Amino acid sequence: MELIGFNKPYFTGKETDYIRQAVESGHISGNGIFTKKCHEFFNKNYGFNKCLLTTSCTDALEMSAILTDIKPGDEVIMPSFTFVSTALAFVRQGAKIVFIDSRADQPNIDEEAIEKLITPKTKAVVVVHYAGVACNMDFFIELSQKYKLWLIEDAAQAIDSFYTNKVGKKIPLGSMGHLACFSFHETKNIQCGEGGMLVINHEAFKKRAEIIWEKGTNRAAFWRGEVDKYGWVDMGSSFLPSDIIAAFLYAQIENIGNIQKKRIEIWNTYFNKLKPLEEKGFIRLPFIPDFATNNGHLFYIICKNTDKRDALIRFAKQHNIWPVFHYISLHKSPFYTNLHDGRELEWADIYSNTLLRLPLYYELGKNEIQRVVKMIFDFFANN
Ligand SMILES: *Cc1c(COP(=O)(O)O)cnc(C)c1O
Repeated sequence: MELIGFNKPYFTGKETDYIRQAVESGHISGNGIFTKKCHEFFNKNYGFNKCLLTTSCTDALEMSAILTDIKPGDEVIMPSFTFVSTALAFVRQGAKIVFIDSRADQPNIDEEAIEKLITPKTKAVVVVHYAGVACNMDFFIELSQKYKLWLIEDAAQAIDSFYTNKVGKKIPLGSMGHLACFSFHETKNIQCGEGGMLVINHEAFKKRAEIIWEKGTNRAAFWRGEVDKYGWVDMGSSFLPSDIIAAFLYAQIENIGNIQKKRIEIWNTYFNKLKPLEEKGFIRLPFIPDFATNNGHLFYIICKNTDKRDALIRFAKQHNIWPVFHYISLHKSPFYTNLHDGRELEWADIYSNTLLRLPLYYELGKNEIQRVVKMIFDFFANN
């Protein structure tokens, strides 16, 4: 039986053509033709009026921490059930991370828990749209206004996903926080190996973001003819990717409709076929609130306990299928556990211990999906 891996990066076939074009244009450093094409695409399709490609989502998060001027001792609230970069970017600026629990019905932030964690030192809230499913953004926007906090969306998994606000307007994820960070890592819906993007929605950040992006210089303004020489004017780093990376990414985003359609189809197949196991109480399936869309980023099941989940992983591997668990709660991670304030975060731990991600990638065929589904049914027939 052939191996069904957890992820298999998809190539549209145009990537090498565009890379060749980038090479032939003679400009392969950052902010070249393909970078601009990518920016225009995101602007036109999602209304991201200022966006900057970065070398990763981690970098976009680091830019966010610099832009919001996070200083030692500042507190930043974020879920514990997230990827390490969400926290790391702010820890680098000296922030104290205040981890918050996940909801009982799905892994996004538990809104009810947040208000009592806000102190005079709180500077920012980072929401993570887990599995591309929107957080309750009306709530977080009001909260950030009430307490004057920066609101940052970790939209790493959330490309082409939407939130319907309280007046019924459908808004792309990534356009509601002051800043939003996307990932184009190989494991994400559209990808360029390693890559990301910062979306700047707060007017006052727009100029400065460009400077931080290009090593603290006003080079971008210089090329537009707005200043007559460029130099070192601020903090920054080299956050911009080579135009070769942007060329690769452009081939992917041109195909985004196709990619999304396929991923959502796979997601729906899993959901419908596994429904009987949920009805019998063996597992829980993903829950998507009415205000959120599903972008087919990842499909997870939640097992009753860690033993079941780990036994299922072993059983899958015997059948040459490689599902994976996801995050280990960050408040329990070796690097941060001594810095955490000791609060129990029950649901973050439950998701760490019982959530299982099934193989989901563009080229996953009907027979392979059927094999994964059958394997899960076989497991629960005896467990
Ligand atoms: C993938 C991911 C990241 C990191 O993205 P990179 O592009 O690999 O830096 C950050 N946050 C979340 C929630 C992610 O899923």
